[in-house]
Amino acid sequence: MKRIVEQVKTGAVLVSDGGWGTFLQQGVLQPGECIELWNLDHRDVIADIARRYVESGADILKTNSFGGTRFKLELYGLADRVAPINEAAAEISRKAAGPNRHVMASVGPTGKMLLMKDVTEKDLYEAFREQIVALDRGGADAVTVETMSDLDEARLAIQAAKDHTRLEVACTMTFQRTAKGQYRTMMGVTPTQMAETLLKIGVDIIGCNCGNGINEMIHIVREIRKAAPSATILAQPNAGVPEMRDWETVYPDSPLEMATQVPDLIEAGANIVGGCCGTTPNHIRAIREMIRPA
Ligand SMILES: [Zn+2]
Repeated sequence: MKRIVEQVKTGAVLVSDGGWGTFLQQGVLQPGECIELWNLDHRDVIADIARRYVESGADILKTNSFGGTRFKLELYGLADRVAPINEAAAEISRKAAGPNRHVMASVGPTGKMLLMKDVTEKDLYEAFREQIVALDRGGADAVTVETMSDLDEARLAIQAAKDHTRLEVACTMTFQRTAKGQYRTMMGVTPTQMAETLLKIGVDIIGCNCGNGINEMIHIVREIRKAAPSATILAQPNAGVPEMRDWETVYPDSPLEMATQVPDLIEAGANIVGGCCGTTPNHIRAIREMIRPA
């Protein structure tokens, strides 16, 4: 199979999958349960999510490993199970993906802040190395460092992946529109700063995920494309901005509402389109219908 960036170079637009965490939470997960432990204890449930995203037409599957660093797993007393939990995450998605789809393993923030001196750079690097090596061993061919706010944390995860694996490495950050109408992460990083910094250290794919619906993301992608004319750009919007209805979090954008904006997102510069929180296999199926298979 060609690498993702090679496929994009031929002019293809790829479809990645949608939400995993929100999808599970709507079902069977109890509050306080470690979602990543389900890779070991309820493998069939996780495999079913992967299978449904394959059926919806995704070219790229993620993995149930967003909170899979030691710093997240230790909150559940699972710091000694980083390797088996992440290896299983990648195995499950690889089995569903088969040889002709990509497995782009999910790596989320550690929740530790360098700025607050919670941890050292070396601590973060080692935590990412441990997780990403296990994802590689389980059969991923790419990794996405996602929902990032801090450029230094993102950089350490990318470097750990580059130093210890041959995986293709994506990094997507989460931006919010400020009162002045600019886009910044919670730590103040602009899309332009992200692109310039991360491409310099050899990231293969950049982009944005979470925090916004597709309409906002069109603007963010446009800014990234301006800063990085030849980069491969991944965009994974939420199904709109969540609203509280009857004590439940509801993501308002229907599959059709998302899909109708896909041409504008591609026009703005996106090469890979998927979804984040609130998106389901039905959203991905609707997005797939807008994009010719590679
Ligand atoms: Zn999200």
